Amino acid sequence: ALFVALSLVNSFVFSAVDRLGTWPAALPEGLLALDIVDKIQVDPNTTARFSSDYGGLSQAAPAAVLYPSSPDDIATLVRFAYSSSSSSSSFSIAAHGHGHSIRGQALVPGGVVVDMASLGRGRSDRINVSSDWYVDAGGEQLWIDVLRETLKHGLSPRSWTDYLYLTVGGTLSNAGISGQAFRHGPQISNVYELDVVTGKGDTITCSREENSDLFYGVLGGLGQFGIITRARIALEPAPRRVRWLRLFYTDFSSFTGDQELLVSMTEKVFDYVEGQLLTEKDVGNSSFFSDNDTEKIKMLAAEYGGIYFVEGGVYYGPATASMVDRKLESLLKRLSFVPGFAFTKDVAYISFLNRVQEEETHSTAPEDVLHPWLNMFVPKSRIRDFEMGVFKGILKKNNPIGLVLIYPFDKNKWDDKMSAVIPDEEVFYTIGLLPSATVDDWKYLDSQNDEILRFCHQEGIDFKQYLPHYTTQTDWKNHFGLKWDAFVQLKRRYDPQALLSPGQRIFTSSP
Ligand code: FAD
Repeated sequence: ALFVALSLVNSFVFSAVDRLGTWPAALPEGLLALDIVDKIQVDPNTTARFSSDYGGLSQAAPAAVLYPSSPDDIATLVRFAYSSSSSSSSFSIAAHGHGHSIRGQALVPGGVVVDMASLGRGRSDRINVSSDWYVDAGGEQLWIDVLRETLKHGLSPRSWTDYLYLTVGGTLSNAGISGQAFRHGPQISNVYELDVVTGKGDTITCSREENSDLFYGVLGGLGQFGIITRARIALEPAPRRVRWLRLFYTDFSSFTGDQELLVSMTEKVFDYVEGQLLTEKDVGNSSFFSDNDTEKIKMLAAEYGGIYFVEGGVYYGPATASMVDRKLESLLKRLSFVPGFAFTKDVAYISFLNRVQEEETHSTAPEDVLHPWLNMFVPKSRIRDFEMGVFKGILKKNNPIGLVLIYPFDKNKWDDKMSAVIPDEEVFYTIGLLPSATVDDWKYLDSQNDEILRFCHQEGIDFKQYLPHYTTQTDWKNHFGLKWDAFVQLKRRYDPQALLSPGQRIFTSSP
């Protein structure tokens, strides 16, 4: 009987090898005996699709890709990896959300990528909206799909990213920021509960009350403690429309002063506040403005060499447009934008949230466009120094390319127990330098990023990187600061063999 059983296992293994092609030497053959083997692909065409990301700056092929049809499939893979981790045939695992990282954070050289999208493929039961104002969404779900589903119930998540073709698990592993965060905090502040497959292959439900260390650790945890397979996200009644404004400034202090006024007001007028630096050559890139207005703004930008605009959104419905106008009229009188340079549009709520996809061209990445982006959080007390050194210094000297975002957050809307790190100041700014590049000029932009980081270090500006990229543990330790020891403890507890998300380059061996 033993002989028959062994031959059955052998013949199964050999037929799986036949189907899969050449089995990668990096992976233990024991994987072939798991009941998820039919969901694993090792052919080079498949692995090549998971070898780079939106940034396009890093390349590393996995040995295999798992296409899970349930969270249990992921748990089976991780449990197996954990049990083989002390042998010579250990391998790493990374969840691949939508691959919209910039620096290879979702890559796993020689290991196994979990294609999260596969969890939701062809299924309608991975987004469930509750009348108690929350939604249970699979970690693989794109925020645009969460929005579409919740709107069917007249509800909507409160906090967003600018671009909605990112996964729930991918943004919650960072923070998830946009112009609503001043009011509601980042997306991670709007989560009630998570299901997580840890680095030991255990499936754990966690919240502020239950397994809270894992809950707080995973939110902003850069995929280091587990793979999010479900998130329960807070909802609010969805507005119908948005009055969308852009107000122009030639002076940085007036620009930031007005932003700070708007985000600190106790009376609720603006639901969304962001801002941008605009140079003459970037003025024509948006369909927000009419041709006449574009010309007018171009002349202003040419005269001042660079201008700023506050972008605001006022949600409404069932309130009427005329009520919004009345509210805005008195507020705008208190602001210091250049007279005649306030522009408005009125759009459906979904069009507003989906504006990047509808308006901008950088959201769809052709293979040959690279994105050497740099995102930072800068304390309010040093934002003028940053302006002088970076906007009026480094960027002016180098002639900047592309989108530059600047807008403030309220520290109190962030939960310090979560892994995400921010500057230690009540108000801090996010700065997003988001150029597109070619293979010929990305290195130049990358060295500009280094120059900006060097400048901040030299000037003692206590910034934090958002979507951080570091390559040494000393840098990671500095990044996490007071949170580092707790981060390491959580790693020991939930991913002791350092199997998960190696592309973040935080732990290269067991902590
Ligand atoms: P991936 O790139 O696939 O993965 C990112 C990391 O998270 C990897 O380490 C991966 O292993 C891990 N991971 C993925 N899924 C899971 C999971 N389910 N559980 C645990 N770990 C997981 N960010 C903002 O905050 N605001 C914005 O407005 C914003 N706009 C963007 C616009 C564009 C065009 C792009 C390219 C990025 C933008 N980002 C923004 C950054 C984005 O939120 C992060 O890069 C995010 O990680 C991308 O999500 P993803 O689903 O593509 O994740």
